[in-house]
Amino acid sequence: MSTEFPEIGGTQDVFYGRPPAVPLPMMARAEGIRFWDEAGKEYIDASSGPMVSALGHCNPNVVAAMSRQALRLDYAYPQIARSRSNLDYAARLSAMAGPGFERVNFASGGSEAIDNALKFARQYALATNQASRRRIISLDPSYHGATIASLAAGGNDTLRPFFDGFAVMAQTIRAPVTYRLNPGETPESSAAASARELEDTIVALGPETVLAFLIEPVGGVSTGAVVPPAGFFTAIRDICTRHGVFLIFDEAICGAGRTGTFFAAHHWPDVRPDIIVQAKGLGAGYAPLAAMLVSATHADTLARLTGFNFSYSYNANPVSCAVGLAVLDEFDRLDLCANAIRRGAELRTGLEALKESCPLVGDVRGLGMLLAVELVADKATKAPLQQEFRALDRLRRHALDLGLLIYARETAGGRFGQWFMVAPPLVATHEDTDLILERIARLLDRVASDAVAARLL
Ligand code: PMP
Repeated sequence: MSTEFPEIGGTQDVFYGRPPAVPLPMMARAEGIRFWDEAGKEYIDASSGPMVSALGHCNPNVVAAMSRQALRLDYAYPQIARSRSNLDYAARLSAMAGPGFERVNFASGGSEAIDNALKFARQYALATNQASRRRIISLDPSYHGATIASLAAGGNDTLRPFFDGFAVMAQTIRAPVTYRLNPGETPESSAAASARELEDTIVALGPETVLAFLIEPVGGVSTGAVVPPAGFFTAIRDICTRHGVFLIFDEAICGAGRTGTFFAAHHWPDVRPDIIVQAKGLGAGYAPLAAMLVSATHADTLARLTGFNFSYSYNANPVSCAVGLAVLDEFDRLDLCANAIRRGAELRTGLEALKESCPLVGDVRGLGMLLAVELVADKATKAPLQQEFRALDRLRRHALDLGLLIYARETAGGRFGQWFMVAPPLVATHEDTDLILERIARLLDRVASDAVAARLL
Protein backbone atom coordinates (compact mmCIF):
# COMPACT_ATOMS: atom_id res chain seq x y z
CA MET A 1 0.00 0.00 0.00
CA SER A 2 1.33 3.42 -0.92
CA THR A 3 2.02 5.44 2.21
CA GLU A 4 1.46 8.69 0.36
CA PHE A 5 -2.13 7.79 -0.39
CA PRO A 6 -3.18 5.08 2.03
CA GLU A 7 -6.67 3.76 1.66
CA ILE A 8 -9.33 5.89 3.28
CA GLY A 9 -12.92 4.74 3.53
CA GLY A 10 -14.28 1.97 1.37
CA THR A 11 -12.65 -0.96 3.10
CA GLN A 12 -11.61 0.92 6.22
CA ASP A 13 -11.41 -1.33 9.28
CA VAL A 14 -14.37 -0.53 11.49
CA PHE A 15 -13.08 -1.77 14.84
CA TYR A 16 -12.25 0.75 17.52
CA GLY A 17 -9.65 0.32 20.24
CA ARG A 18 -6.45 0.80 18.31
CA PRO A 19 -5.10 3.73 16.33
CA PRO A 20 -6.64 4.03 12.84
CA ALA A 21 -4.42 3.07 9.92
CA VAL A 22 -4.94 6.51 8.41
CA PRO A 23 -5.59 9.78 10.14
CA LEU A 24 -9.21 10.79 9.61
CA PRO A 25 -10.42 14.16 10.85
CA MET A 26 -11.77 14.06 14.40
CA MET A 27 -14.99 16.02 14.10
CA ALA A 28 -15.84 18.32 16.96
CA ARG A 29 -19.14 19.74 15.74
CA ALA A 30 -21.42 20.12 12.76
CA GLU A 31 -24.15 22.43 11.53
CA GLY A 32 -26.09 22.41 8.28
CA ILE A 33 -23.83 21.10 5.52
CA ARG A 34 -20.60 21.75 7.47
CA PHE A 35 -18.37 19.95 9.96
CA TRP A 36 -15.49 21.41 12.00
CA ASP A 37 -12.71 19.20 13.31
CA GLU A 38 -11.01 19.57 16.67
CA ALA A 39 -8.40 21.85 15.13
CA GLY A 40 -11.18 24.14 13.83
CA LYS A 41 -10.82 23.20 10.15
CA GLU A 42 -14.08 23.34 8.18
CA TYR A 43 -15.32 20.54 5.91
CA ILE A 44 -18.33 20.47 3.60
CA ASP A 45 -20.42 17.33 3.73
CA ALA A 46 -20.68 16.83 -0.04
CA SER A 47 -22.24 13.35 0.10
CA SER A 48 -24.25 13.50 3.35
CA GLY A 49 -21.91 10.83 4.72
CA PRO A 50 -23.10 7.75 2.83
CA MET A 51 -26.20 9.66 1.58
CA VAL A 52 -27.69 9.78 5.10
CA SER A 53 -27.77 13.36 6.36
CA ALA A 54 -30.71 14.59 4.29
CA LEU A 55 -31.39 17.58 6.57
CA GLY A 56 -27.82 18.53 7.27
CA HIS A 57 -26.48 18.44 10.78
CA CYS A 58 -27.79 19.42 14.21
CA ASN A 59 -31.18 20.63 13.01
CA PRO A 60 -32.70 22.17 16.15
CA ASN A 61 -36.30 21.17 15.33
CA VAL A 62 -35.37 17.51 14.96
CA VAL A 63 -33.21 17.55 18.07
CA ALA A 64 -36.04 19.19 20.05
CA ALA A 65 -38.58 16.60 18.87
CA MET A 66 -36.16 13.83 19.76
CA SER A 67 -35.57 15.22 23.21
CA ARG A 68 -39.31 15.80 23.85
CA GLN A 69 -40.08 12.20 22.93
CA ALA A 70 -37.20 10.79 24.97
CA LEU A 71 -38.35 12.71 28.04
CA ARG A 72 -42.00 11.62 27.58
CA LEU A 73 -41.77 7.99 26.44
CA ASP A 74 -38.39 6.53 25.60
CA TYR A 75 -39.33 2.95 24.71
CA ALA A 76 -42.29 0.64 24.25
CA TYR A 77 -41.78 -2.87 22.89
CA PRO A 78 -44.14 -3.09 19.90
CA GLN A 79 -45.03 -6.74 20.59
CA ILE A 80 -46.59 -5.83 23.93
CA ALA A 81 -47.22 -2.08 23.92
CA ARG A 82 -47.81 0.72 21.45
CA SER A 83 -46.54 4.23 21.15
CA ARG A 84 -48.31 7.13 19.49
CA SER A 85 -45.13 8.16 17.67
CA ASN A 86 -44.81 4.87 15.79
CA LEU A 87 -48.50 4.76 14.81
CA ASP A 88 -48.47 8.40 13.67
CA TYR A 89 -45.25 7.92 11.76
CA ALA A 90 -46.45 4.74 10.03
CA ALA A 91 -49.70 6.49 9.00
CA ARG A 92 -47.83 9.49 7.64
CA LEU A 93 -45.31 7.44 5.65
CA SER A 94 -47.92 5.17 4.14
CA ALA A 95 -50.10 8.18 3.15
CA MET A 96 -47.08 9.68 1.40
CA ALA A 97 -46.33 6.40 -0.38
CA GLY A 98 -49.90 6.19 -1.70
CA PRO A 99 -52.06 3.20 -2.69
CA GLY A 100 -50.36 -0.17 -2.40
CA PHE A 101 -48.29 0.77 0.67
CA GLU A 102 -50.79 0.79 3.51
CA ARG A 103 -48.72 -1.26 5.95
CA VAL A 104 -45.36 -0.24 7.41
CA ASN A 105 -42.77 -2.25 9.29
CA PHE A 106 -39.89 -0.43 10.97
CA ALA A 107 -36.26 -1.36 11.48
CA SER A 108 -33.06 0.29 12.66
CA GLY A 109 -31.32 0.52 9.30
CA GLY A 110 -31.37 -0.43 5.65
CA SER A 111 -29.80 -3.87 6.06
CA GLU A 112 -32.36 -4.91 8.66
CA ALA A 113 -35.20 -3.53 6.56
CA ILE A 114 -33.97 -5.48 3.50
CA ASP A 115 -33.80 -8.61 5.67
CA ASN A 116 -37.35 -7.88 6.75
CA ALA A 117 -38.51 -7.47 3.15
CA LEU A 118 -36.97 -10.83 2.21
CA LYS A 119 -38.43 -12.51 5.31
CA PHE A 120 -41.83 -11.01 4.54
CA ALA A 121 -41.75 -12.32 0.96
CA ARG A 122 -40.57 -15.74 2.14
CA GLN A 123 -43.18 -16.01 4.87
CA TYR A 124 -45.87 -14.93 2.43
CA ALA A 125 -44.75 -17.63 -0.02
CA LEU A 126 -44.81 -20.27 2.72
CA ALA A 127 -48.22 -19.18 3.95
CA THR A 128 -49.70 -19.26 0.44
CA ASN A 129 -48.52 -22.74 -0.61
CA GLN A 130 -45.52 -21.51 -2.59
CA ALA A 131 -42.84 -23.03 -0.34
CA SER A 132 -40.48 -23.67 -3.27
CA ARG A 133 -40.04 -19.92 -3.83
CA ARG A 134 -36.77 -19.01 -2.15
CA ARG A 135 -34.36 -17.67 -4.81
CA ILE A 136 -33.50 -13.99 -4.91
CA ILE A 137 -32.50 -12.25 -8.14
CA SER A 138 -30.56 -8.99 -7.99
CA LEU A 139 -28.29 -6.92 -10.21
CA ASP A 140 -24.58 -7.31 -10.89
CA PRO A 141 -23.30 -5.14 -9.33
CA SER A 142 -25.59 -4.26 -6.44
CA TYR A 143 -25.45 -3.68 -2.72
CA HIS A 144 -28.35 -4.16 -0.35
CA GLY A 145 -26.80 -4.18 3.10
CA ALA A 146 -24.35 -5.89 5.40
CA THR A 147 -26.33 -8.42 7.43
CA ILE A 148 -25.63 -11.95 6.20
CA ALA A 149 -28.89 -12.13 4.24
CA SER A 150 -28.82 -8.62 2.78
CA LEU A 151 -25.15 -9.03 1.84
CA ALA A 152 -25.91 -12.34 0.16
CA ALA A 153 -28.80 -10.69 -1.67
CA GLY A 154 -26.46 -8.19 -3.33
CA GLY A 155 -24.50 -8.78 -6.51
CA ASN A 156 -20.81 -8.78 -5.66
CA ASP A 157 -18.74 -11.58 -7.14
CA THR A 158 -15.77 -10.95 -4.87
CA LEU A 159 -17.89 -12.22 -1.96
CA ARG A 160 -18.39 -15.70 -3.42
CA PRO A 161 -15.63 -17.31 -1.27
CA PHE A 162 -17.16 -15.71 1.82
CA PHE A 163 -20.59 -17.17 1.14
CA ASP A 164 -19.54 -20.54 -0.27
CA GLY A 165 -21.14 -23.19 1.97
CA PHE A 166 -22.30 -20.48 4.35
CA ALA A 167 -25.35 -18.83 2.78
CA VAL A 168 -26.89 -18.77 -0.69
CA MET A 169 -26.04 -15.75 -2.77
CA ALA A 170 -28.54 -14.13 -5.07
CA GLN A 171 -28.69 -15.05 -8.73
CA THR A 172 -27.55 -11.95 -10.58
CA ILE A 173 -28.33 -10.34 -13.90
CA ARG A 174 -26.28 -7.57 -15.49
CA ALA A 175 -27.32 -4.16 -14.19
CA PRO A 176 -28.64 -1.72 -16.79
CA VAL A 177 -25.87 0.76 -17.50
CA THR A 178 -25.85 4.12 -19.19
CA TYR A 179 -22.12 4.81 -19.59
CA ARG A 180 -20.13 1.54 -19.57
CA LEU A 181 -22.11 0.14 -22.47
CA ASN A 182 -21.09 -2.83 -24.59
CA PRO A 183 -20.17 -2.03 -28.21
CA GLY A 184 -23.27 -0.96 -30.13
CA GLU A 185 -25.37 -0.71 -26.98
CA THR A 186 -27.51 2.28 -25.91
CA PRO A 187 -28.88 2.87 -22.41
CA GLU A 188 -32.25 1.67 -23.72
CA SER A 189 -30.88 -1.53 -25.25
CA SER A 190 -28.78 -2.22 -22.15
CA ALA A 191 -31.91 -1.93 -19.99
CA ALA A 192 -33.89 -4.09 -22.42
CA ALA A 193 -31.13 -6.73 -22.27
CA SER A 194 -31.24 -6.66 -18.45
CA ALA A 195 -35.00 -7.11 -18.46
CA ARG A 196 -34.67 -10.01 -20.93
CA GLU A 197 -32.02 -11.58 -18.72
CA LEU A 198 -34.35 -11.25 -15.74
CA GLU A 199 -37.06 -13.19 -17.52
CA ASP A 200 -34.60 -15.78 -18.88
CA THR A 201 -33.18 -16.28 -15.39
CA ILE A 202 -36.62 -16.72 -13.83
CA VAL A 203 -37.51 -19.26 -16.51
CA ALA A 204 -34.16 -21.09 -16.18
CA LEU A 205 -34.42 -21.31 -12.39
CA GLY A 206 -38.08 -22.28 -12.64
CA PRO A 207 -40.57 -19.52 -11.78
CA GLU A 208 -41.92 -21.62 -8.91
CA THR A 209 -38.52 -21.31 -7.20
CA VAL A 210 -38.08 -17.55 -7.52
CA LEU A 211 -39.15 -15.41 -4.58
CA ALA A 212 -38.09 -11.85 -5.34
CA PHE A 213 -36.30 -9.49 -7.66
CA LEU A 214 -34.48 -6.89 -5.58
CA ILE A 215 -33.23 -3.65 -7.13
CA GLU A 216 -32.36 -0.08 -6.38
CA PRO A 217 -34.46 1.95 -8.84
CA VAL A 218 -31.65 4.52 -8.97
CA GLY A 219 -28.20 3.10 -8.33
CA GLY A 220 -26.41 4.03 -5.14
CA VAL A 221 -23.02 2.80 -3.99
CA SER A 222 -22.84 -0.08 -6.46
CA THR A 223 -23.24 1.54 -9.86
CA GLY A 224 -22.84 5.18 -8.86
CA ALA A 225 -26.22 6.79 -9.51
CA VAL A 226 -27.18 4.98 -12.71
CA VAL A 227 -30.74 5.90 -13.71
CA PRO A 228 -32.27 3.25 -15.99
CA PRO A 229 -34.66 4.43 -18.72
CA ALA A 230 -38.36 4.40 -17.81
CA GLY A 231 -39.10 1.41 -20.07
CA PHE A 232 -36.96 -0.79 -17.80
CA PHE A 233 -39.37 -0.36 -14.91
CA THR A 234 -42.44 -1.17 -16.99
CA ALA A 235 -40.68 -4.28 -18.29
CA ILE A 236 -39.51 -5.65 -14.93
CA ARG A 237 -42.91 -4.98 -13.33
CA ASP A 238 -44.59 -6.95 -16.07
CA ILE A 239 -42.09 -9.84 -15.80
CA CYS A 240 -42.39 -10.07 -12.01
CA THR A 241 -46.20 -9.97 -12.19
CA ARG A 242 -46.38 -12.69 -14.84
CA HIS A 243 -44.12 -15.01 -12.81
CA GLY A 244 -45.52 -14.24 -9.35
CA VAL A 245 -42.21 -12.76 -8.18
CA PHE A 246 -42.08 -10.01 -5.55
CA LEU A 247 -40.61 -6.80 -6.96
CA ILE A 248 -38.69 -5.08 -4.16
CA PHE A 249 -37.39 -1.51 -4.52
CA ASP A 250 -34.45 -0.79 -2.24
CA GLU A 251 -34.68 2.97 -1.78
CA ALA A 252 -32.15 3.10 1.06
CA ILE A 253 -30.19 5.70 -0.88
CA CYS A 254 -32.52 6.99 -3.59
CA GLY A 255 -35.50 7.37 -1.24
CA ALA A 256 -36.30 10.05 1.33
CA GLY A 257 -36.45 12.83 -1.23
CA ARG A 258 -32.91 12.46 -2.52
CA THR A 259 -33.94 12.17 -6.17
CA GLY A 260 -36.60 14.90 -6.00
CA THR A 261 -39.64 12.79 -5.07
CA PHE A 262 -39.87 11.43 -1.52
CA PHE A 263 -40.28 7.88 -2.84
CA ALA A 264 -38.07 7.23 -5.86
CA ALA A 265 -40.78 4.86 -7.15
CA HIS A 266 -42.97 7.92 -7.74
CA HIS A 267 -40.81 8.86 -10.72
CA TRP A 268 -42.54 6.00 -12.55
CA PRO A 269 -46.19 6.35 -11.44
CA ASP A 270 -47.39 3.47 -13.59
CA VAL A 271 -45.01 1.03 -11.95
CA ARG A 272 -45.75 -0.08 -8.43
CA PRO A 273 -43.30 -2.39 -6.65
CA ASP A 274 -44.67 -4.90 -4.11
CA ILE A 275 -42.33 -3.76 -1.36
CA ILE A 276 -40.40 -0.53 -0.84
CA VAL A 277 -37.55 -0.18 1.62
CA GLN A 278 -36.62 3.28 2.87
CA ALA A 279 -33.64 3.87 5.15
CA LYS A 280 -30.79 6.35 5.49
CA GLY A 281 -32.56 9.69 4.88
CA LEU A 282 -35.59 8.68 7.00
CA GLY A 283 -33.69 9.14 10.24
CA ALA A 284 -31.36 11.56 8.41
CA GLY A 285 -28.51 10.67 10.77
CA TYR A 286 -30.44 11.65 13.92
CA ALA A 287 -31.72 8.16 14.80
CA PRO A 288 -31.39 4.60 13.47
CA LEU A 289 -34.52 4.23 11.37
CA ALA A 290 -35.69 2.36 8.29
CA ALA A 291 -39.01 1.16 6.95
CA MET A 292 -40.47 -1.54 4.74
CA LEU A 293 -43.80 -0.67 3.12
CA VAL A 294 -46.17 -3.27 1.68
CA SER A 295 -49.79 -3.37 0.56
CA ALA A 296 -52.68 -4.02 2.93
CA THR A 297 -53.60 -6.91 0.65
CA HIS A 298 -50.27 -8.69 1.18
CA ALA A 299 -49.83 -7.79 4.85
CA ASP A 300 -53.41 -8.58 5.86
CA THR A 301 -53.45 -11.86 3.94
CA LEU A 302 -50.31 -12.89 5.76
CA ALA A 303 -51.72 -11.66 9.08
CA ARG A 304 -54.76 -13.91 8.58
CA LEU A 305 -52.67 -16.95 7.70
CA THR A 306 -49.58 -16.89 9.90
CA GLY A 307 -48.69 -13.30 10.74
CA PHE A 308 -45.29 -11.76 10.19
CA ASN A 309 -43.51 -13.04 13.23
CA PHE A 310 -40.09 -11.43 13.17
CA SER A 311 -39.12 -8.39 15.12
CA TYR A 312 -36.16 -6.68 16.70
CA SER A 313 -36.00 -5.10 20.14
CA TYR A 314 -35.51 -1.70 18.56
CA ASN A 315 -38.23 -1.90 15.88
CA ALA A 316 -40.44 1.15 15.85
CA ASN A 317 -38.48 2.77 18.65
CA PRO A 318 -40.58 5.75 19.81
CA VAL A 319 -37.64 8.15 19.76
CA SER A 320 -36.60 7.03 16.26
CA CYS A 321 -40.20 7.42 15.06
CA ALA A 322 -40.43 10.90 16.63
CA VAL A 323 -37.27 11.77 14.72
CA GLY A 324 -38.83 10.36 11.54
CA LEU A 325 -41.90 12.56 12.03
CA ALA A 326 -39.78 15.65 12.72
CA VAL A 327 -37.73 14.92 9.58
CA LEU A 328 -40.95 14.80 7.54
CA ASP A 329 -42.06 18.10 9.11
CA GLU A 330 -38.77 19.65 8.00
CA PHE A 331 -39.22 18.20 4.51
CA ASP A 332 -42.60 19.99 4.32
CA ARG A 333 -41.50 23.23 5.97
CA LEU A 334 -38.41 23.59 3.77
CA ASP A 335 -39.94 22.02 0.64
CA LEU A 336 -36.92 19.76 0.39
CA CYS A 337 -38.04 17.61 -2.54
CA ALA A 338 -38.35 20.78 -4.65
CA ASN A 339 -34.98 21.95 -3.34
CA ALA A 340 -33.45 18.60 -4.31
CA ILE A 341 -34.61 19.19 -7.89
CA ARG A 342 -33.43 22.82 -7.99
CA ARG A 343 -30.04 22.31 -6.33
CA GLY A 344 -29.57 19.00 -8.10
CA ALA A 345 -29.97 20.82 -11.43
CA GLU A 346 -27.41 23.46 -10.40
CA LEU A 347 -24.92 20.81 -9.32
CA ARG A 348 -25.47 18.87 -12.49
CA THR A 349 -24.92 21.89 -14.72
CA GLY A 350 -21.68 22.67 -12.88
CA LEU A 351 -20.48 19.08 -13.05
CA GLU A 352 -21.33 18.84 -16.76
CA ALA A 353 -19.15 21.94 -17.27
CA LEU A 354 -16.34 20.20 -15.40
CA LYS A 355 -16.80 17.21 -17.66
CA GLU A 356 -15.97 19.50 -20.59
CA SER A 357 -12.96 21.13 -18.92
CA CYS A 358 -11.40 18.31 -16.89
CA PRO A 359 -9.70 15.47 -18.75
CA LEU A 360 -10.51 13.02 -15.95
CA VAL A 361 -14.29 13.32 -15.94
CA GLY A 362 -15.85 10.68 -18.16
CA ASP A 363 -19.46 10.79 -17.01
CA VAL A 364 -21.85 12.78 -14.86
CA ARG A 365 -25.11 11.05 -14.02
CA GLY A 366 -27.88 10.75 -11.48
CA LEU A 367 -31.22 12.18 -10.51
CA GLY A 368 -32.07 15.11 -8.25
CA MET A 369 -29.39 15.43 -5.59
CA LEU A 370 -28.03 11.93 -6.10
CA LEU A 371 -25.23 12.54 -8.60
CA ALA A 372 -22.05 10.70 -9.47
CA VAL A 373 -18.90 11.74 -11.32
CA GLU A 374 -17.00 8.93 -13.00
CA LEU A 375 -13.25 9.24 -13.54
CA VAL A 376 -11.44 7.92 -16.60
CA ALA A 377 -7.92 8.00 -18.00
CA ASP A 378 -9.21 8.38 -21.54
CA LYS A 379 -12.57 9.89 -22.43
CA ALA A 380 -12.67 8.34 -25.89
CA THR A 381 -12.06 4.76 -24.75
CA LYS A 382 -13.54 5.24 -21.24
CA ALA A 383 -10.47 3.39 -19.92
CA PRO A 384 -10.36 3.69 -16.14
CA LEU A 385 -7.27 5.03 -14.36
CA GLN A 386 -4.77 2.29 -13.57
CA GLN A 387 -5.31 0.63 -10.21
CA GLU A 388 -1.69 1.47 -9.19
CA PHE A 389 -2.52 5.17 -9.43
CA ARG A 390 -4.98 4.69 -6.53
CA ALA A 391 -7.20 7.41 -7.91
CA LEU A 392 -9.86 7.12 -5.24
CA ASP A 393 -7.40 7.30 -2.37
CA ARG A 394 -5.82 10.36 -3.96
CA LEU A 395 -9.24 11.87 -4.42
CA ARG A 396 -10.25 11.26 -0.80
CA ARG A 397 -6.96 12.60 0.53
CA HIS A 398 -7.02 15.77 -1.60
CA ALA A 399 -10.69 16.25 -0.74
CA LEU A 400 -9.95 16.21 3.00
CA ASP A 401 -7.18 18.71 2.44
CA LEU A 402 -9.56 20.98 0.52
CA GLY A 403 -12.26 20.67 3.19
CA LEU A 404 -14.59 18.36 1.31
CA LEU A 405 -16.04 15.10 2.60
CA ILE A 406 -16.90 12.89 -0.34
CA TYR A 407 -17.96 9.30 -0.90
CA ALA A 408 -15.73 7.71 -3.57
CA ARG A 409 -16.10 4.16 -4.72
CA GLU A 410 -15.44 1.55 -7.36
CA THR A 411 -17.18 -1.76 -7.83
CA ALA A 412 -15.97 -5.08 -9.14
CA GLY A 413 -12.32 -4.00 -9.24
CA GLY A 414 -13.15 -1.00 -11.41
CA ARG A 415 -15.13 -3.05 -13.95
CA PHE A 416 -18.02 -0.64 -13.43
CA GLY A 417 -15.81 2.41 -13.13
CA GLN A 418 -14.41 4.63 -10.40
CA TRP A 419 -16.65 7.43 -9.25
CA PHE A 420 -17.54 9.75 -6.42
CA MET A 421 -20.95 10.86 -5.25
CA VAL A 422 -22.11 14.44 -5.16
CA ALA A 423 -25.05 14.26 -2.79
CA PRO A 424 -24.96 17.01 -0.19
CA PRO A 425 -27.74 17.45 2.37
CA LEU A 426 -31.01 18.44 0.71
CA VAL A 427 -31.01 21.73 2.66
CA ALA A 428 -28.09 23.04 0.58
CA THR A 429 -28.55 26.56 -0.78
CA HIS A 430 -27.51 28.07 -4.10
CA GLU A 431 -24.38 29.49 -2.40
CA ASP A 432 -23.62 26.03 -1.00
CA THR A 433 -23.81 24.36 -4.41
CA ASP A 434 -21.49 27.06 -5.83
CA LEU A 435 -18.98 26.39 -3.07
CA ILE A 436 -19.19 22.62 -3.49
CA LEU A 437 -18.63 22.95 -7.25
CA GLU A 438 -15.69 25.26 -6.72
CA ARG A 439 -14.04 22.79 -4.31
CA ILE A 440 -14.75 19.85 -6.62
CA ALA A 441 -13.11 21.77 -9.50
CA ARG A 442 -9.99 22.29 -7.36
CA LEU A 443 -10.09 18.65 -6.28
CA LEU A 444 -10.24 17.40 -9.87
CA ASP A 445 -7.40 19.77 -10.84
CA ARG A 446 -5.22 18.24 -8.17
CA VAL A 447 -5.97 14.65 -9.17
CA ALA A 448 -5.45 15.57 -12.84
CA SER A 449 -2.05 17.10 -11.98
CA ASP A 450 -1.12 13.88 -10.17
CA ALA A 451 -2.19 11.91 -13.23
CA VAL A 452 -0.07 14.11 -15.51
CA ALA A 453 2.89 13.65 -13.16
CA ALA A 454 2.32 9.90 -13.28
CA ARG A 455 2.21 10.16 -17.12
CA LEU A 456 -1.34 8.85 -17.20
CA LEU A 457 -2.79 11.85 -19.05
N1 PMP B 1 -29.41 -0.84 0.61
C1 PMP B 1 -28.66 0.04 -0.06
C2 PMP B 1 -29.00 0.34 -1.48
C3 PMP B 1 -27.59 0.69 0.56
O1 PMP B 1 -26.84 1.56 -0.14
C4 PMP B 1 -27.34 0.43 1.91
C5 PMP B 1 -26.21 1.12 2.66
N2 PMP B 1 -25.21 1.65 1.91
C6 PMP B 1 -28.13 -0.51 2.58
C7 PMP B 1 -29.17 -1.12 1.91
C8 PMP B 1 -27.87 -0.85 4.00
O2 PMP B 1 -28.27 0.16 4.84
P1 PMP B 1 -27.65 0.30 6.30
O3 PMP B 1 -26.22 0.64 6.13
O4 PMP B 1 -28.50 1.39 6.90
O5 PMP B 1 -27.87 -0.99 7.00
